Amino acid sequence: MPELPEVERAARRLGKAALGKTIASVKAIHPALRRKLSPAQSRAARGKRIDRVERRGKHQLIHLDSGDTLVVHFRMNGDWEIGPASAPLEPFARALIELADGTRISLVDRRALSSITLDKKGASSLPKLGREASDPSLDADYLSAALERKKVAIKPALMDQSVIAGLGNIYVAEALWEAELDPRRPAAKATKVKLTRLVEAIRLVLSPKRRRPGRYTETRGVDRFAVYDREGKACRRCDGIIERIVQAGRSTYFCPGCQRG
Ligand SMILES: [Zn+2]
Repeated sequence: MPELPEVERAARRLGKAALGKTIASVKAIHPALRRKLSPAQSRAARGKRIDRVERRGKHQLIHLDSGDTLVVHFRMNGDWEIGPASAPLEPFARALIELADGTRISLVDRRALSSITLDKKGASSLPKLGREASDPSLDADYLSAALERKKVAIKPALMDQSVIAGLGNIYVAEALWEAELDPRRPAAKATKVKLTRLVEAIRLVLSPKRRRPGRYTETRGVDRFAVYDREGKACRRCDGIIERIVQAGRSTYFCPGCQRG
């Protein structure tokens, strides 16, 4: 599933290809995507210039010179394919943004779960989003206030996009491991000291250095992550064995040996 770094990269690629250019057409090909992009919305985007491309949480916002915004979400496995409009259509192209200069931006998604819609000027279809995981103002005080009334464990609470925008299943697990925090502890009980450690851990796991696949592969085999998807394998910090549990319908990987905070 595309997580924050992948969505950020996708938004940059899109910006590079489309910024300042005029939209020739926007169309949803797959019926599931057509439900969210009406013919009137497609028409509203036609002939408009792309002024800004922005990531907010895992949403990509394409701001048009009309004040309207195309809002894209990749969900489980969407991505952009960018090339000339004359090239053969990608087999899993679900929506197309064609530019007046002959560039075709295809939203490809094998499972067709992605979405594209158009928000009219002044309107927003985005859910309530918390501070960005990459926002320097994300700190222990903010997290403490955001988690104070949560009645769930810290892992599902951190997955809630109204707490932190852009943090998904992989990086929440990795950050909790880095901060040595138990994913099952109640979110509301996390102390400022623990949350300070957690904020540092979130920054670390999202940093390009930590994410470089080679970091662990040199000495520890092919695993890219410290705990994610490593059920039954040895912890890299203690003698523990990584466990998988299910919280709020999602897999949580953690080390019961050292994640005791
Ligand atoms: Zn451990």
